[in-house]
Amino acid sequence: MKNILPRLVVLSLCLLGPQLHFAQSLLDLRVDLVYLASDYLEGREAGKIGEDRAGEYLAQRFAEIGLQPLGDDGSYEQSFEFNYNTNPQASPEETRMAENLIGYLDRGAATTLVIGAHYDHIGRGAFGSRTPGESAIHNGADDNASGTAALLYLAEKLAKSDLKGHNFLFIAFSAEEMGLYGSKHFVKYPTIDLTKVTAMFNMDMVGRLKDQSLIINGAGTSPVWKSLFPQN
Ligand SMILES: [Zn+2]
Repeated sequence: MKNILPRLVVLSLCLLGPQLHFAQSLLDLRVDLVYLASDYLEGREAGKIGEDRAGEYLAQRFAEIGLQPLGDDGSYEQSFEFNYNTNPQASPEETRMAENLIGYLDRGAATTLVIGAHYDHIGRGAFGSRTPGESAIHNGADDNASGTAALLYLAEKLAKSDLKGHNFLFIAFSAEEMGLYGSKHFVKYPTIDLTKVTAMFNMDMVGRLKDQSLIINGAGTSPVWKSLFPQN
């Protein structure tokens, strides 16, 4: 009889283990989302301090998850310059620096899947705001702290899995809101062999599931996606 208790404890832990793990992942997801959308990051405008803070956080999370850094000089950051101008008629262009964050899971596979999301937003709304003229922090919880937190969630899940069919490249892009500068820079200066990339999956605004539905765009870019989502 005295041997039953430890067995019951072990059995309970085995049964609860997956749920506890799932709950931990959801907690991480919530923490990532709340931090990225916090006032401390000041709306994550590309080239500004808040976006820098977001980039530092993402690098730290990539390291915790165990992703291999594939940015500049052995880091997760891939820096680039871009010209910022909200009104070409009124003001000269301003050159800014921003960073993509790039992490890799090498599974020794012949093919690589790219999973991406932009992490910048519109700061205090000097451009792209639905309420122009207001200088409030635009937190961008949906656009796109949601996609960025989902990117970290997927990275964590895939890092813990033993899936070996593909390698996985995770990219958090910057300066998307001002003109897709981060993704354009990566395509021009890729840090992996792009001929091995078989698909790219980008998440933008996945935090507002109206009617419990998820919209998938761009399925027509591949006959395989097209067969999976024929209505696109
Ligand atoms: Zn977006």
